Amino acid sequence: MNEIILLKLGEMVLKGLNRHEFENRLLNDIRSRLKPLGKFDLSIRQSTVYVEPKTETDMDEVFRRLQHVFGPVAMSRARASAKDVDAIVETAIPYLREAMTGAESFKVESKRSDKRFPMTSIQISQAVGGALHDAYPHVRVDVHNPDLTVYVEIRETAAYVHAGSLPGAGGLPVGSGGRGVTLLSGGIDSPVSSYLMAKRGMALVPVHFFSYPYTSPEAREKVEELARILARYTGRMTLHLVPFTAVQEAIRKNCPENLFTLIMRRFMMRIAQRIALDTGCGAIVTGECLGQVASQTLDAMTVTGQVCTLPVFRPLIGLDKEETVKLARRIGTFDTSVLPYEDCCTVFTPRHPKLRPTVEELEKAETALDCETLIESALAGVEKLVVSGW
Ligand code: ATP
Ligand code: MG
Repeated sequence: MNEIILLKLGEMVLKGLNRHEFENRLLNDIRSRLKPLGKFDLSIRQSTVYVEPKTETDMDEVFRRLQHVFGPVAMSRARASAKDVDAIVETAIPYLREAMTGAESFKVESKRSDKRFPMTSIQISQAVGGALHDAYPHVRVDVHNPDLTVYVEIRETAAYVHAGSLPGAGGLPVGSGGRGVTLLSGGIDSPVSSYLMAKRGMALVPVHFFSYPYTSPEAREKVEELARILARYTGRMTLHLVPFTAVQEAIRKNCPENLFTLIMRRFMMRIAQRIALDTGCGAIVTGECLGQVASQTLDAMTVTGQVCTLPVFRPLIGLDKEETVKLARRIGTFDTSVLPYEDCCTVFTPRHPKLRPTVEELEKAETALDCETLIESALAGVEKLVVSGW
């Protein structure tokens, strides 16, 4: 029998009547990720997804892709065998060769979810452990502190042998938590805030503002690359690239310099909300963090959030930079984020940004602008780019 992958589900299994909806989303998500790699049978039994290849495939690559799918908390590669202790032993000896050869000590742990199986878990462990020890006599049995734990699981339709599990991506299947527009800059923070919302099941529409020629084509490519890295977790997404130069030039020409950043951010929020409504999104996500910069004080976030009626989620709000950096490294966005290209936020930054802005003040400054026309023409110039992760 072929090698298969077992995905142990996390929080999802606690869901009640809508559990099937979560499961179907997860299966569809897995199906679309694996489609380019061959044909697979997918099924869910006893809080576990079984991913069984039906054609020749690269199992390392399958495993790597599945490690980025939200929903499973643990995953293992396993080999199925008939539900008979001799068959299990015959499967385990060659399948575990590499793991056994690399270990100095081992133990076998068995789980019997099919209670009709004629041996107890302890008897199964003893039988399989004894046979493995005979086949690999240099590996000691150590039930307290082994290098390697071999697992035997007797389930409904077959028995499975594996050498332990690795963590899955956790969270909830993408799409089970609604849809949101995520404001994606080229910085460290917004890829992480996007990831965190996606992990809780939100499907994302990334939106990036660029200010060519003040920002370079490389800066844009960097954001495209960040979106591709995120798409390993979220599945395929449509990146919206919004030309922002005209808005920024109009603000610079007509508004007080100390309000420049805040007015610019209010435009970003307004345009993001329009894209959200056009694409069926119910929220806006940003990488803001309390107190990180002048435009992220409570007063600043009040005046920038105030132009939206949709909820604005800021999942990094309470994190220290160090914590965000750690996450960015773990999810694989950090090295791209730190490439030295400028962002539109650094174009025309005020020397003395207003620290205690009020809504009235901003509304007054914005009367000098034809806001609707600026928003409309930015939206008319949006380019859409479909990105996928692999
Ligand atoms: P980041 O590391 O994500 O760039 P930051 O700490 O540099 O964040 P700001 O530049 O003030 O903070 O941006 C705050 C948030 O506004 C970002 O996290 C992002 O969600 C959004 N944002 C900023 N610039 C852009 C942009 N050019 N396009 C899209 N969203 C942006
Ligand atoms: Mg930034």
